[in-house]
Amino acid sequence: MSLYVQKFGGSSVADAEKLMHISHIIRNARAAGHDVIAVVSAQGDATNRLIEKKNEISTASFPREQDALLAAGEQISAALTAIALESTGVPAVSLLGWQVPLRSDGTHGDARILKISHTRIERELSRGRVVVCAGFQGVDGENDVTTLGRGGSDYSAVALAAAFGAERCLIYTDVDGVYTADPRLCPTARPLPTVSYEDMYALSRAGAQVLHDKCVALAQESGVEPEVLSCAPGSASTRIAASSGSRGLTGVTRRENPQDDYAAVTLVGGALPSLSIEKKAVLALNAAGVPIRGVDAGERTLTLYVDRSASREALCRIHDAVLI
Ligand code: ASP
Ligand code: MG
Repeated sequence: MSLYVQKFGGSSVADAEKLMHISHIIRNARAAGHDVIAVVSAQGDATNRLIEKKNEISTASFPREQDALLAAGEQISAALTAIALESTGVPAVSLLGWQVPLRSDGTHGDARILKISHTRIERELSRGRVVVCAGFQGVDGENDVTTLGRGGSDYSAVALAAAFGAERCLIYTDVDGVYTADPRLCPTARPLPTVSYEDMYALSRAGAQVLHDKCVALAQESGVEPEVLSCAPGSASTRIAASSGSRGLTGVTRRENPQDDYAAVTLVGGALPSLSIEKKAVLALNAAGVPIRGVDAGERTLTLYVDRSASREALCRIHDAVLI
């Protein structure tokens, strides 16, 4: 039987209604004849709320305990997802990182996946159950709980797809794919049917929140082609796959740090570096009266630094100047 990995982000598991909706999506995949490993993130902004709870006690870093704390977010959503499935007659079992086990190194807060054991998951699948894995977590050599870095459930999903040779790795999020810019910031952004591993990696590193950078690197290494889509019926999607050799521009994203008063707006694509594209971007910002603090050209990237308060304006102006 063919296997699907279906990963659901925090907004897709935020409440009971959403959990019932995703159990319906999983049920449809099963009805179409596929085994399913579902991977879930913590509900809504649960991870941030857990960090706040810790900060109420101390803002110092307690890497081991913070991982034990944050992993609880995914434990809750995995159990609730399995309950939602079972309640509608779909046999399901939730598994935490240590129950799989999904072995990682011991870098608390940013662990790397080392090995995923097949035995337990295969046994559950062969019993006809949907396996609901808690994303974002692993277990290290000391049997301590680790987390994989913020947004790390995508990484869990790709690692599971690679380990089990899944036919599809579907990443459900709150946008229906990857766009030329974040469509919530830039209304003229266009959806992209495919994005190369290289460009997706560069976009993730430059601040695009769609996929985790370690997840993209692992997908490329293992040949998994993640498909990013939304939970809405008939959603469009973006497939991340090997480059077709295009030399164009793919997208633009921004990165802001709360402690800095500037932001980086980064264009990505095989056409870069390019002096003519750089000129167009600079002219667009000049015309909009956005001061440029610096420019940095890299392989497949062009970054313009602007005041943090102007980053959205800069993103959209650059997008409209070179991507439509
Ligand atoms: N819950 C974790 C986070 O908020 C992991 C994830 O959502 O993928 O970063
Ligand atoms: Mg995410």
